[in-house]
Amino acid sequence: MKTIIIGGTAAGMSAAVKIQKMARDPQVVVYEKGEVVSFGACGLPYYVGDQFHDSRQMIAREQAAFEKMGIAVNLFHEVTAVDTVNKTVTVWDSQQAQSFTDTYDQLLVASGAYPLTPRLETPAFERYENIFHLKTIGDGRALKTYLRVEEVQEVTVIGGGFIGVECAEALLHQGKKVRLIQLDEHLLNDSFDPEISEVLAENMQAAGVNLHLGEGVQDLCGSTDEETNARIHTVVTDKGAYPTELVVIAIGVRPATDMLGPEFAKLPNGALVVDDQGRTNVAAVWAAGDCATVPHLVTGDDRYIPLATGANKLGRIAGEVMAGADSRYPGSLGTAGVKFMALEAARTGITEADAVKLGLGFKTVVINDKNQTDYYPGQKDIRVKLIYDEQDLTLWGAQITGENGAALRIDTLAAAITMKMTTKQLGMLDLLYAPPFARTWDVLNVAGNVAKPGPKTTLPAAEKPATQAEKAAIPAG
Ligand SMILES: Cc1cc2nc3c(=O)[nH]c(=O)nc-3n(C[C@H](O)[C@H](O)[C@H](O)COP(=O)(O)OP(=O)(O)OC[C@H]3O[C@@H](n4cnc5c(N)ncnc54)[C@H](O)[C@@H]3O)c2cc1C
Repeated sequence: MKTIIIGGTAAGMSAAVKIQKMARDPQVVVYEKGEVVSFGACGLPYYVGDQFHDSRQMIAREQAAFEKMGIAVNLFHEVTAVDTVNKTVTVWDSQQAQSFTDTYDQLLVASGAYPLTPRLETPAFERYENIFHLKTIGDGRALKTYLRVEEVQEVTVIGGGFIGVECAEALLHQGKKVRLIQLDEHLLNDSFDPEISEVLAENMQAAGVNLHLGEGVQDLCGSTDEETNARIHTVVTDKGAYPTELVVIAIGVRPATDMLGPEFAKLPNGALVVDDQGRTNVAAVWAAGDCATVPHLVTGDDRYIPLATGANKLGRIAGEVMAGADSRYPGSLGTAGVKFMALEAARTGITEADAVKLGLGFKTVVINDKNQTDYYPGQKDIRVKLIYDEQDLTLWGAQITGENGAALRIDTLAAAITMKMTTKQLGMLDLLYAPPFARTWDVLNVAGNVAKPGPKTTLPAAEKPATQAEKAAIPAG
């Protein structure tokens, strides 16, 4: 059974290894248009910020290691078309500058996503040398080289999602003056509710990031010298014009599914709709990762959640199924986190905004507390938000922000949501207590105990009523 895999990163190589190990007579061929396989883009901001220096450390496993396993890995090979009737792919070999066709018995589309570029009055990428995405290993190296070689001081990040925030920190580490422009009123607008993202925004501003929220970039203006070294010098938005010597675009991604025909069921953004085994609606074609949907564990709908976590897991499941197993992916909660300097933020399940959009009968609670006992050095603020069923208190979503490992508490909440726990059960969950790590009643217990059934009454974070009420009942630890 011959399997062709389009794309050799998280989803593609997870599947390739499973098929190679589990199938009876495997023949796995990977076509990867880039220069590496098994590349972890998640490391890019830290590479740019000089937290480590060798870009190859972002490669989990080299081409040779896969080939040793018997997987045929073809770098610099782009699949440009798929014929699902004759089961062939058209491949462009960019090193030999030639096209050829190959046949498959089964196909996995694991082509990931392209970084988006804002609609600008003047197309910028073709024209200017000081504009960057941060998606590929090449992007990371180019940005880092530019920062090292050129005398750049004022830099602009467009987009305030996970990558934009991480990128702003990296550029601060490089000693740059950073401006971040975000179209939405809040940072990380799709992932966090304002009670959490406002803490992040305050921290970024305090660290010196010039934050422009609710502002849309309209144009990037630069030198008119078209021959060499044309550079952007001004970012024009709907609210002003700002000088800049470098621009990083981080406004999100679009599924890389252009090579597929209209027979495929897709979301409006182009993501292939797949089931819990990674199967598309087309016979013998699977998909996983940033090019496809994942089933959402709370809502049950097909969502576009472009994260390495889902790509690795659904890639592995698809590989197992393609090798003949009956594995199923339980679903995603979109569990994710971000760090800015010492501050951490993490989220799982649905946000309040999601709950409103879905018309759910929900309630929320926001708790401001401390991460550990008062007397142990290093105590920090911590804020938790829960979103839950107003009737039976089942947990649907959670967000957290704070320092000293606050983000990892989200894993407890992800487990709680997965197991359909109620806020009441969370309130009595036997969580760790020792002075350096938590209070006797951890902030998660407190949040669970404060959450009550009934019509929705979101507690404004600033008033901190829950914490004060709970504190009175907290025995000394
Ligand atoms: C800067 C950055 C930081 C991130 N941080 C995190 C994080 O902290 N946590 C997290 O969970 N996720 C993070 N992500 C997201 C994560 O990297 C992606 O979700 C993950 O890489 C998706 O894996 P994938 O295999 O689906 O797609 P990709 O990693 O995009 O890989 C797809 C591959 O397919 C190749 N390809 C595309 N089209 C074709 C074609 N037609 N023919 C042949 N090859 C093709 C591409 O070259 C690419 O190598 C981050 C992403 C970035 C960019």
